[in-house]
Amino acid sequence: LSARVVVVGGGFGGATAAKYLKRNAPDLDVTLVEPNKVFYTCPFSNLVLAGMRTMDSISHNYNELRELGVRVVHTTAQDVDPVSRTVSLGDGSSIRYEKLLLSPGIDIRWNAIEGYDQAAAEQAPHAWKAGDQTRLLRRQIEAMDDGGVFVLTAPANPFRCPPGPYERASLVAHYLSQHKPRSKVLILDAKDNFSKQGLFMQGWKDVHGDRIEWVGLSGDGKVVRVDAGKREVETEFGTIHKASVLNVVPPQKAGFIADRAGVTNESGWVPVDPVTFESTQVKDIYVVGDATIAAPMPKSGFAANAQGKVAAAAIIAALEGQRPLEPSWANTCYSLINPEYGISVAAVYRIQEGLIHESSSGVSPSDANATFRKLEADYASGWYSAITQDTWG
Ligand code: FAD
Repeated sequence: LSARVVVVGGGFGGATAAKYLKRNAPDLDVTLVEPNKVFYTCPFSNLVLAGMRTMDSISHNYNELRELGVRVVHTTAQDVDPVSRTVSLGDGSSIRYEKLLLSPGIDIRWNAIEGYDQAAAEQAPHAWKAGDQTRLLRRQIEAMDDGGVFVLTAPANPFRCPPGPYERASLVAHYLSQHKPRSKVLILDAKDNFSKQGLFMQGWKDVHGDRIEWVGLSGDGKVVRVDAGKREVETEFGTIHKASVLNVVPPQKAGFIADRAGVTNESGWVPVDPVTFESTQVKDIYVVGDATIAAPMPKSGFAANAQGKVAAAAIIAALEGQRPLEPSWANTCYSLINPEYGISVAAVYRIQEGLIHESSSGVSPSDANATFRKLEADYASGWYSAITQDTWG
């Protein structure tokens, strides 16, 4: 099977797809376009913020993919022409494809919250893409005065990693409890319900006492204006909150290349055929990961990895003139309340009447004992090693 497949984005979805394309069809000509030589995962970046892990331990490279025969090009895809089937690259060159797979992850909707633009993110980091933003937020947390308030603003749905803000609040609270015990965490949320809410709230009560305060939408938690210089936020009904460290998790959309390729709709995300993850708007362009509309699957690394495999198999089937297999997917998201206390949500998804349906799911029991919670924290580490090995190793 010889054909040229171009993959844009070497994160969870794209690196997995490139690997499984090459593994399942070794004669395919697979090119992976990714600007960064080192990829830092968002999963476990909250542990870096809490001083539990190093940046090195969440870094991955593309050596194994190269050894497998994937051509890895470190530049940015700037544009896609679906008529000539060409991707133009940041270095001025362009490549043709028979099939194109995009897994560009998210871009921030700058100024969706008044005052929150690229310059503001240098003072009030989002750290919702891992790397320099993670380092910056870590430095700010370390430099925070004892007695200060870490303010985290959380967006409305849909966004990358539904439990992510609440795990971050938990692990920052853990760090503060050890190094700045008079400090607090305040979460200002643009919604009234969030992932694993019951388990998080119970965990906070068990472990963090009143160190973490959560304010939902109906309690005036929605932030509408940010003054990054003053580290102040203003809510919908005009309350001003002053932060010692301000972490804005802003509204998001699909990475810009999805717009350029014409695969996004008015929501800013990408509708796909759930069986193949081919765009419903542009033929021969497949999209996986956070950029897609794949609800009820969450925007998680686990889901992106699973979707990458499904799209790789569908691309090979299409090139061979075969019908795609009907896929099913799984997702597990672990979160840590502290290093000894893990919780999880797991689900299996199948196609039903042409749509993705959750066919079974569950969360950790609410009455679990300390041994169980510790085991789940250990499983989180096991999960991280396994998925990063599957994706980049
Ligand atoms: P990404 O992994 O972000 O990869 C996108 C890649 O595309 C990037 O490398 C980028 O450089 C590249 N790219 C973008 N545009 C272009 C372009 N034009 N040209 C070339 N390359 C481009 N998920 C879990 O499953 N478990 C967790 O425990 C978990 N914890 C998280 C904690 C936090 C704090 C956060 C923020 C997220 C967490 N996630 C977790 C979610 C996970 O990070 C994402 O769902 C996952 O990264 C999505 O994969 P992706 O391939 O869509 O995007």
